[in-house]
Amino acid sequence: MSTLHDPILRWYDVHQRDLPWRSASASAWSVLVSEVMLQQTPVSRVLPVHAAWLERWPTPAALAAVPSGEAVRAWGRLGYPRRALRLHAAATAVVERHDGEIPTDLTELKALPGVGEYTAAAVASFAFGQRHVVLDTNVRRVLARALGGQELPAPSLTRAERDRAADVLPAEEATAATWAVAVMELGALVCTANQPRCEACPVAAQCAWRLAGRPAYDGPARRTQAWAGTDRQCRGRLMAVLRDADGPVHRSSLDLVWEQTAQRERALAGLLADGLAIRVGPDSYALPD
Ligand code: SF4
Repeated sequence: MSTLHDPILRWYDVHQRDLPWRSASASAWSVLVSEVMLQQTPVSRVLPVHAAWLERWPTPAALAAVPSGEAVRAWGRLGYPRRALRLHAAATAVVERHDGEIPTDLTELKALPGVGEYTAAAVASFAFGQRHVVLDTNVRRVLARALGGQELPAPSLTRAERDRAADVLPAEEATAATWAVAVMELGALVCTANQPRCEACPVAAQCAWRLAGRPAYDGPARRTQAWAGTDRQCRGRLMAVLRDADGPVHRSSLDLVWEQTAQRERALAGLLADGLAIRVGPDSYALPD
């Protein structure tokens, strides 16, 4: 039993946020939707979209019954809208393969379109109380600091990190499930990327990184995500025009939101290739059917 367990579990009991996908009545579908939305978007921006999504599509079957373009429209400005298509595809697969019920088995979860290792483990753990290693960026950071003595983990998940997370996972199933969400919450609220609040941390007395004097990260270079002027920003602008329109959009409306022709054309071609937009006429475009 790790000496991290008790302090972190007790801290979580007192400090956990009251999030809708964590309530006792939250469905596995609510958990899956939240996990996909939270992958690249902060909680504050996810909350209203998650609430509206669950109200409109309270089950996978409800989402699967509408065109995928409706999911893309409802995704709004959460970013990385391919996630909306993936959720729609997952909902469709849940209806076709599992009678509309989110499967409890990890392998079946992983077999859903767009559901990777992390998301499957998170849903199995948070929705069904199972014992799995759940490693998101917050958990990786807490374990890298508290146990590894490093400010940040490697840019990509390593085997050693996975083994360390498995070693520290509580043996008892229900405790392991609470542990997974508790470490994540500690990373989100206290052991944050840029300004960890060690003075408020329940494991400060045993944190290897803090005890070593908080040495600066000296591992491989980390990718920083640029935004202004990127193809991603351009795609976002084009998607906003398609989302806000009631019907097909003429090319001239897209031209208005991004000046550089070559970049705009490239972004539009990317949206068509990804299935986020369709061509409905020689010069008009729409969200997918
Ligand atoms: S003591 Fe500081 S660095 Fe260590 S786990 Fe706690 S918040 Fe993170």
